[in-house]
Amino acid sequence: MPTYKAPLRDIRFVMNELLGYEEHYKSLPDGEEAVEVVDAILEEGAKFAENVLTPLNQIGDQQGCKLEDGKVRVPEGFTEAYQQYVEGGWPSMAQNPEYGGQGLPHSLGMVLNEMICSSNLAWGMYPGLSHGAMSALEHHGTDELKQTYLTKLIEGSWTGTMCLTEPHCGTDLGLIKTKALPQDDGSFKVSGTKIFISAGDHEMAENIVHLVLAKLPDAPAGSKGISLFVVPKFLPDAEGEAGERNGVTCGSLEHKMGIHGNSTCVMNFDDASGWMVGQPNKGLAAMFTMMNAARIGVGIQGQGLIEASYQNSLAYARDRLQMRALSGAKAPEKAADPIIVHPDVRRMLLTQKAFSEGGRALILFTAQLVDKVEHGNEEDSKEADEILGLLTPIVKAFLTEVGFEATNEGLQVFGGHGFIQEWGMEQFVRDARITRLYEGTTGIQALDLLGRKVLMNQGETLKKFTKQIHKYCQTVSKEEGMHEFTKPLSELNKEWGDLTMKIGMSAMQNRDEVGAAAVDYTMYAGYIVLGYFWAQMAEIAQKKLAEGTEEKAYYQAKLDTARFYYARLLPRTRAHAAAMTAGADSLLAMDEAAFGLTFEV
Ligand SMILES: Cc1cc2nc3c(=O)[nH]c(=O)nc-3n(C[C@H](O)[C@H](O)[C@H](O)COP(=O)(O)OP(=O)(O)OC[C@H]3O[C@@H](n4cnc5c(N)ncnc54)[C@H](O)[C@@H]3O)c2cc1C
Repeated sequence: MPTYKAPLRDIRFVMNELLGYEEHYKSLPDGEEAVEVVDAILEEGAKFAENVLTPLNQIGDQQGCKLEDGKVRVPEGFTEAYQQYVEGGWPSMAQNPEYGGQGLPHSLGMVLNEMICSSNLAWGMYPGLSHGAMSALEHHGTDELKQTYLTKLIEGSWTGTMCLTEPHCGTDLGLIKTKALPQDDGSFKVSGTKIFISAGDHEMAENIVHLVLAKLPDAPAGSKGISLFVVPKFLPDAEGEAGERNGVTCGSLEHKMGIHGNSTCVMNFDDASGWMVGQPNKGLAAMFTMMNAARIGVGIQGQGLIEASYQNSLAYARDRLQMRALSGAKAPEKAADPIIVHPDVRRMLLTQKAFSEGGRALILFTAQLVDKVEHGNEEDSKEADEILGLLTPIVKAFLTEVGFEATNEGLQVFGGHGFIQEWGMEQFVRDARITRLYEGTTGIQALDLLGRKVLMNQGETLKKFTKQIHKYCQTVSKEEGMHEFTKPLSELNKEWGDLTMKIGMSAMQNRDEVGAAAVDYTMYAGYIVLGYFWAQMAEIAQKKLAEGTEEKAYYQAKLDTARFYYARLLPRTRAHAAAMTAGADSLLAMDEAAFGLTFEV
């Protein structure tokens, strides 16, 4: 069975040494409390992830969810784990005190989230989906809706879902058919079918709060006619507790490739009572509040899975004896050398390590931006929001793409045993696969990045971010040992701006150029962003080593991993740069009918 140990040393490195979290918290109103509790949260979160969630991960995969007599049964131990999570006060940690939250910064929840995603992704999605619902209600709900639903979600006694997708539409939500008919008392009757709804039904909590996209009878066509509704599984009674059953049922469960422990439901709404969140036909804005939080959450899933896969493939590579090192035996007393001596096995391990640690730095940087948006002063909040908007599709798309690659490398380290279920490595790959799809596929994130976040504001936000990288390179380039990092980073950083302009010019002639470049552009951007964090981590490590730190091995490993990233992973930008500037012609030249000519007669 796979094991997991929360990487607390590295989380503390990123929080304390790389990103100055103590100062960051002190700069937030009421942030002092976060400084005081951060250690306890890390320690307790680690225990929960290691001792409660990890042992349930493989059980959840093997048992899956079942629909029996109209009830969704989750795997053994999932409900008890959820009760412990609620008793521990985890759902309320970063929520608004007015509705029962503890008011701690969101970044603390994001740190905990990495540990949950590493230890049991499928379980983590039950409380995870509540976050999107809470954030939509917090930002767009009336006080009455907040009192009724947000308080229960924050308490954890009710969980939430996001009901967007329908059989005929996922990406293009303007096509939804679910209807909401206004009633005299101000409520709505919601009818329609939603598919692929994560945590859509279960009995882990007393009630489920569905956030549902639907159309009013007179709604304009397309995405300008979408409204958002809260539709509970059980209608709140006079005391605000789960009362009568509403017209929402789980029609069936999907049989899927991974995350078996999470119930992915077809949800039928039959004249279900619902209440509008936000303004009529303005559901898209509320939906994006939900989705942006969820997109960063999915990026964390990608990184969390890399960490879990890495820890297990490392243990195996140290233990498994096969062949001798090419340069001569490294363990002559044994029948063969452990496979960790082989350069190719090290390539796979270091790829995982570099993406996990680099991804953690990116996520916790993003987490500070989230804190500033939520709690900072007006100016800080506005600036943070802009950079957060730019980085969100990178976090989502890049970390899930490399998450799938890295978990696959983890499997590969095990050789044929990686393909065998009992080792648990193939589960990480299967679980990671969905992260590239839901909350908007990689292709859609890429269009958001290049189209909306970069080109639509004439590269202004990108300029702000690349200026930050440029300043950093200038400041540290003369420091001993930094040239090897700042030279390639500053060259790429400049090229990023130049190539963006080039693509922008082509896009003015033909909009298809954006779609043709977008995914390579996103990967290219992701490698540079991680390169920025790896340069900073290398700088800290070199300083610590020069000072004669007692943790020499830790900092040397950090520096070695930075060098691996720069030597082996950052150069992938070359291929992406070539592809993203190759233009749309090679993609669009072929006639649609010609695609099938090799087999269609
Ligand atoms: C396990 C699981 C859990 C899920 N959980 C939820 C949930 O909780 N709530 C919810 O509402 N939904 C959920 N989803 C749905 C998920 O978000 C969608 O599947 C996803 O957004 C893609 O939509 P689709 O499947 O309809 O694909 P489509 O939209 O049909 O896309 C098919 C392909 O076309 C590409 N494509 C589409 N449009 C464009 C374009 N304009 N430009 C370029 N490429 C394009 C896509 O990238 C994709 O490769 C879940 C799905 C799964 C499988």
